[in-house]
Amino acid sequence: MSPKLHPVRGIDGEATINLFVASLEDIRNPKHCPACLTGCLLAFFHNTNGAYLLDNIAILRENHHLFLDRCVAFLTLERDLAELDAASEEWIGCECDLNDALIRKLHDILPKGDEPDINTVSRHVVSVVHAVLQPVREKGGVHKVAHNAEKAAKQGKNVLWPTKPADLLPYGPDSSVRAMGYWIERAPSALWIGLVGSMLEICKRTMIPALITSPYIPEKSIGIVEVPIMVHMVRTAEPRRKSAATPAACLADVKRCAVFFLQLQTFCDRHELLKFFSGQEDFFFRAMKTALDFVRDIARDVKPSTARLDVIGIGETEQEVSYIESVFVTLAATVHCHLGLPFDSKKYTALVLAHSLAVLKTDKDPAIIAFQAFYQLAFHERCCSPGCTETFASLGRKFSLCSGCSRVPFCSKQCLTTAWKYPNVAHKDVCKKIKAVALATKLPSKPAPKDVLQFRDRCRAEIDEADIADIAMHVQRLFKEMSSAFDEEDKIQFLENVSRCETLGIEDVA
Ligand SMILES: [Zn+2]
Ligand SMILES: [Zn+2]
Ligand SMILES: [Zn+2]
Repeated sequence: MSPKLHPVRGIDGEATINLFVASLEDIRNPKHCPACLTGCLLAFFHNTNGAYLLDNIAILRENHHLFLDRCVAFLTLERDLAELDAASEEWIGCECDLNDALIRKLHDILPKGDEPDINTVSRHVVSVVHAVLQPVREKGGVHKVAHNAEKAAKQGKNVLWPTKPADLLPYGPDSSVRAMGYWIERAPSALWIGLVGSMLEICKRTMIPALITSPYIPEKSIGIVEVPIMVHMVRTAEPRRKSAATPAACLADVKRCAVFFLQLQTFCDRHELLKFFSGQEDFFFRAMKTALDFVRDIARDVKPSTARLDVIGIGETEQEVSYIESVFVTLAATVHCHLGLPFDSKKYTALVLAHSLAVLKTDKDPAIIAFQAFYQLAFHERCCSPGCTETFASLGRKFSLCSGCSRVPFCSKQCLTTAWKYPNVAHKDVCKKIKAVALATKLPSKPAPKDVLQFRDRCRAEIDEADIADIAMHVQRLFKEMSSAFDEEDKIQFLENVSRCETLGIEDVA
């Protein structure tokens, strides 16, 4: 029997969820008023202190897919600004059946006086979906999602939500991303940006074209970085002023933005990244500078006792700060370097300039090309046997990695055998070297672009330069050889994907 939601305020969680699902059968015309729907979301999500109920979130993921699908549909159904404006004015009156005890209780959850509207509902829906996705992204994004379904089926358990990346974009990437852009334009918040970041991590490149052309998301995602920092500064300057935003909450908000920017940098190529920031460069560098200048101030005020109140997991404050700094420095340096901007220490933080200089110097360094190769091998989701064109998508599963090096995927044993002695690009020539380099550099199995400099430095200290160059050249030959099996159009696409690591500041390998 599946576990029941823990009741809060004496309200039955399952009945509340059924009511919410039924109410949003037609997303555009909910059957209940905003107060009632907000009550539904609060009923099982927060305890009376306002803290998230982590157990209930886990139960939602396992047992209430329809509810979560409705939540996502609510957020991704395309409604433009005019429609959202109209909805927030029209959809306020209550015609709910207050003779029903449950409905009456739900109406009483929100304090009187502050009449909720469609934005209130959306804010709470974002909060629920964000919290549900948090464990997914912490455990490795889309692979985990695909893996979850398999594992659960084997154990006869319920599949955890989302069951597949497309669950997050029910109306397709273009329409869904546009819809979220309208919400964000209307009521920007770090929570929204964090949600888009988590979705991006799971859906990967699916969302990128829509994101970079979104009329609202680029500007709002940059602008929102400074908001929690300002909130904290006001709070520090006027300690008597009442504010709900604790230092922990402010830091969590900055981190939500960092999560988004890290995903953006990971999945965009150079052109996409520049397009995303195009026209907002000054605004962007100012936001990065503000964040880097003040994030440690906020961290100093975080009290350990409040740390776990927020589901994003502030946990080790020092770790969180390093994470935020590393994301912002790497991103700002990459954009700075790609744009060929001057080394102006008044305008840019010293850390960013140092990093940008390093990115510049790394052009054509074999260690960088080798890193690019590792990065590509980790994410390109293809069989690496020359002549084979199978992908994770075409066979509907992940491939095993070569057991020798644990880095190179093959769709079958036979493909590994073919690749092992393939003329000119025999895997046996590099298998041991790949393993040795990965071990010596402590390279994660899914490297992030920010790992590149550490990788390069460890290569210099630990590895014979000739071996590095050998791996770099080998993988370039391999990708060329692999692409020759495709027809012309696919070949171009493949080589484009291979050169997608340009975010690292490297030229095409093709
Ligand atoms: Zn009502
Ligand atoms: Zn194959
Ligand atoms: Zn191998």
